[in-house]
Amino acid sequence: MKAAVFTAPNTIEYVRDYPEPQLNEGFLLRVRASGICGTDIKALTGTRPGMQPPMVLGHELAGEIIQSAIPDFSAGERVSVAPYAGCGTCRFCLAGREDQCRNKTMLSGGAFAEKVAAPALLAVKTAWKIPTDISFEEAALAEPLACVVFSLKTCRWEPGWSILVVGGGFMGLLHVLLASAWGAARVLVTEPNPTRRALAKQLGAVTHDPAVDGDLAQWAAAQTGGLGPHVIITAVGVPEVVESVITAARPGGVVHLFGGLPKDRKLSISAYAIHYQSISLVGTSGFRTSDYRLAADMIAHAKVNLKPLITTRMPLDQANTGFAKAKSGEAVKVLLLQD
Ligand SMILES: [Zn+2]
Ligand SMILES: [Zn+2]
Repeated sequence: MKAAVFTAPNTIEYVRDYPEPQLNEGFLLRVRASGICGTDIKALTGTRPGMQPPMVLGHELAGEIIQSAIPDFSAGERVSVAPYAGCGTCRFCLAGREDQCRNKTMLSGGAFAEKVAAPALLAVKTAWKIPTDISFEEAALAEPLACVVFSLKTCRWEPGWSILVVGGGFMGLLHVLLASAWGAARVLVTEPNPTRRALAKQLGAVTHDPAVDGDLAQWAAAQTGGLGPHVIITAVGVPEVVESVITAARPGGVVHLFGGLPKDRKLSISAYAIHYQSISLVGTSGFRTSDYRLAADMIAHAKVNLKPLITTRMPLDQANTGFAKAKSGEAVKVLLLQD
């Protein structure tokens, strides 16, 4: 089959003879849309353990069923499916922490390929039929939205709260959309790139330009009645930025380290803020099946409008260009499309 294969560090090769996935009691999908994610861009450097070439990347997808062994799904149906699901029986899964499951069921391979097989457990737990008025492109974004559902739930999000998103890339802007949908009283975004700032504004956020608007903590306090935001999401990979925003949260508030930081990097944070101001520091990566289902329902019922975030569409054979645009920050979200 056709596939955009990660063959060596910083190299994607489009091939027509990649081995076909095997149907394993689940369903076989013809991929129609797949999103390039920050994780794929990091993996492409070849420095991620467990994501070594040769392999096919991609874990945000939607497509058409070619063949199905699952009673509820049949050939020709438009579906989206999560890239993983917890085993359901380990201590983490039983405790509602599928994200930490060490025995996850995964897709047969990456989504930057013509076909992908979903094993039965994964298909049964996460697959959903895409309503006719929702595109493959939007449906493919259920996975990143699920990560943001998990993120805000971990912040113990409540309607009426205020949120500051640090970084207006795709994941930051998804936080803007979800917090707005979940009744945010105030959505603030700080972002140096003017195009991204404009997009954040278009989505309803009040924006901060670090070059012009001065100290972020003071600005955020001024926007929230002098108290600071209830939730701060760091959707950047810059440790210094993360360190600087912790004291900007409202006393009793939550700071979420959403963007991954280098494994060995230590942070310098205010013990006073943690103890006396009772600011919580939390982190998540990935999602649980419950988050994915909620994200899928929101997309299926058009409760979030993802379209403005999809800035770039490329055919799969131009995956290289798609990666370059995603990496440069020129695109907010790149989707690779297939007929
Ligand atoms: Zn992703
Ligand atoms: Zn498990």
